[in-house]
Amino acid sequence: NNQKPTILITGGAGFIGSNFITYFLQEHSEYQLVNIDKLTYAGSTENLNEIKDLPNYHFINGDIADEQLVKSIFSDFPISGVIHFAAESHVDRSIQDAKQFVEANVVGTTVLLQAARNAWERLGVLHERRFHQISTDEIYGSLDETGKFNEQTPYNPRNPYSASKASANLLVKSFGYTYGMNIVISSSSNNYGPRQHEEKLIPTIIAKALSLESIPIYGDGKNIRDWLYVTDHCQALDFVYHHGNTMETYNIGGGNELTNIEVAIKICQILDQLKPDIKARASIEYFADLITYTEDRPGHDRRYAVDDTKTRKTLGWKPVMTFEQGIRQTVEWYVNKWEKVTH
Ligand code: NAD
Repeated sequence: NNQKPTILITGGAGFIGSNFITYFLQEHSEYQLVNIDKLTYAGSTENLNEIKDLPNYHFINGDIADEQLVKSIFSDFPISGVIHFAAESHVDRSIQDAKQFVEANVVGTTVLLQAARNAWERLGVLHERRFHQISTDEIYGSLDETGKFNEQTPYNPRNPYSASKASANLLVKSFGYTYGMNIVISSSSNNYGPRQHEEKLIPTIIAKALSLESIPIYGDGKNIRDWLYVTDHCQALDFVYHHGNTMETYNIGGGNELTNIEVAIKICQILDQLKPDIKARASIEYFADLITYTEDRPGHDRRYAVDDTKTRKTLGWKPVMTFEQGIRQTVEWYVNKWEKVTH
């Protein structure tokens, strides 16, 4: 295994990271992956059950902000690149406690960058080895009805989560400018799919509907997000990691702009078909009858949408999943999981 190119994945027990590891090891068995994850409330090794026994996968339970630990990973493994997912990721939690977001997302990213720089400089390979920062379209701020964010859009984060992610990106860029590190950044729109934590919009809608509780939708429900199926994102990341140019940012979108209420109704319609038995237990005709508007999130960004022409044109990537297919697969996955737990 020491001969295999070795990527350090951070946050690989979370939603996108675990989907990425599973995808990547299927596509690229010539690689070895080392996954460092702190296993916060958001991460679980169960997300990696499919691949956990593969000889070219290693798990390290630890914090990316732990300098000694991160340094030791670079001496224990021949790390040829980093793909950095680890982060505190939930906007509502960042509004409750911003400091934790700075520690994980800003300090954590800095510790990783320094460890990578020191290790690769010592080996004389600093300009070759890649540091890929996983970012979000939320760094760009909020849009009105028209226009899209492109890679030149100035950062204008509006909540502590997106501010910490924008800060991390700036540190990553600074390591590129200052030390000539081979950095690349990809910024994607909202992901959906299997293994997302229940606190996020789509899993919450499904879980509340299945337990016949009211389905909370912020404000007027008309906030717009662009939905990207997680495996489409994983493939884009593979392309960016392998073929993206150094110091560049690549936007990754799903091409599915929907209001939150449209998403909720779509999920309810799928559940109406899949689970008529549950609905029959309550005196409701449609799962959508459970939808309840709640007080808006403070500073709630109205609309996000990314222009990903650059990624599509220069890397030849495009999403393959339609929202119709993706949301059905996602709902089915959560229904299966729910049935296992309740039966
Ligand atoms: P997630 O919350 O599901 O997973 C984050 C993972 O990071 C968890 O396994 C957690 O245990 C781990 N982690 C947190 N702090 C850590 C630390 N200090 N040290 C080590 N591990 C730590 O998040 P996600 O939705 O999978 O997002 C992954 C990345 O993608 C994040 O950087 C996020 O900003 C970015 N992103 C997410 C979305 C989305 O829609 N989910 C969209 C664009 C970008």
